[in-house]
This record gives sequence, structure tokens and C-alpha cells, in this order.
Amino acid sequence: MKLSQVLFSQGFGARRECEGLICAGLVSVGGVVIEEPSHEVAPEGLLFTVEGQTWAYHAKALIVMNKPAGFECSKKPRHHPSIYNLLPAQFKRRDMQTVGRLDEDTTGLLLFTDDGNLIHRWTSPKHHVPKIYEAGCKHPVDEAQVARLLAGVVLHDDPLPVQALAAEITGAFEHPTHGTLHGLRLTLAEGKYHQVKRMLAAVSNRVETLHRSGFGAYRLPDDLKLGEWRWLPGPQAVVPR
Ligand code: URA
Repeated sequence: MKLSQVLFSQGFGARRECEGLICAGLVSVGGVVIEEPSHEVAPEGLLFTVEGQTWAYHAKALIVMNKPAGFECSKKPRHHPSIYNLLPAQFKRRDMQTVGRLDEDTTGLLLFTDDGNLIHRWTSPKHHVPKIYEAGCKHPVDEAQVARLLAGVVLHDDPLPVQALAAEITGAFEHPTHGTLHGLRLTLAEGKYHQVKRMLAAVSNRVETLHRSGFGAYRLPDDLKLGEWRWLPGPQAVVPR
């Protein structure tokens, strides 16, 4: 593949812009500056440097972010900044999309990819990819509430009950602004709008804080700070075949 095509495929600009970066001596491969846009490279496993930053070639991009509160998972946000603002510009050009959405005030595991098939498979209700949420509830969570969440609760816009795959009381903790909150770890197969908040409301509780810690087989790494992102090794890290 031509080096200019590599840059273009990875979102570094329009074809002309990619050629311009190369001609300006801003791109190197293996420590050697390449000034010829048609220089041939093998893309698989390629490491290349653009304006001092090194990138690995990915035919399809799949990344995880630890989403901070205060960002909307939309490219056209209405009330808060877009989560896409936290990604490098070339990811926006690659048309990366979030795999499902988290509410503006929800933190934690958020996947992005430019692979439309993955988005479809992982968000389709048919595939039941489990998602794990850590809710901080206003009122103590008791076994009766857990039993109802596991048995299924009816949300007002849907006659069919939705049930948690798992629900575990994780104990009280102090929150800097909400005071004492009561922890509940909930595993859900679907991804309905405000699902955790609405399920807890259905059992007369209230979610004050919400954090997603798992998606499929993947767990949010402890060392990924709020607002940071990293590459995933591949789809099998999320849903093993
Ligand atoms: N359920 C919610 O209520 N909010 C989210 O952001 C995700 C799941």
C-alpha cells in the first residue's frame, strides 16, 4: 500500500493533505523520514510517525474510553460537549461511532469503532451482549428489590418486563456530593434508553451515580483514567468467538 493511502485510510486527512504531510517531511517509518507519497509499505503491523506521534495501522479501529461525566455520546450534542471531542482528529475523520450510548452523567466503559458490523452485532437486542453497571443508589438496596430486578420489572413504555441477568449489592459508600450512596452491580442483556435508572425507579429507588465496568467479556482496565482511551487488541477481547 502507498504510504499516502495508509495515512488516508487511518484518517489523517484528505488524500492531498496526506500527500502534503509526507512531502513536508512530517512522516517517518521505522525512524526514517519518507518524503515520497507513493512509497510502498506493508500495512499489517506497520508503525508510522506523523508529526512526532507514533501510530499503529489498524484496518478497522476498536478503542475503549473511560467516559467522564458531562459529555454526550452524540456527534451533534444538545446540552453538553460531545464525547467525540476527546478523540484525536483522525478518529473523527474515520467515522468512529460509539457502540451504544451512555447518558451524559454516566461514566465508564465506552467502545468506539468504525466497523459497522461490530456495532450492529454488539448493540442488536438479538445478541444479548451483557453489560455490567455499578449504580450508586439513593436508598439502601434490599433483597426484595434485587429479587424484583431479577424477576423483571415493567418500564412505562414497554409492556414486556425487563430483567437483570445478575444483581449484586455491593455496599454503602460515601460520595463527595451525594453523601452516602448504596452500591448495586447490575448486569443487563439489553441496552434500552436509561435502562438502569428506569429499572431502579421501578423498584422505588433512585440512581444517583452510574458507571459501566463491563461490556461482553471485556472489563474496564483500572489504570485507564477518566477521559483516556486505548486500542483494544481486537473484537475477540470483547465477545470471544
Ligand atoms: N442505563 C442508564 O440508565 N444509563 C446509561 O447511561 C446506561 C444504562
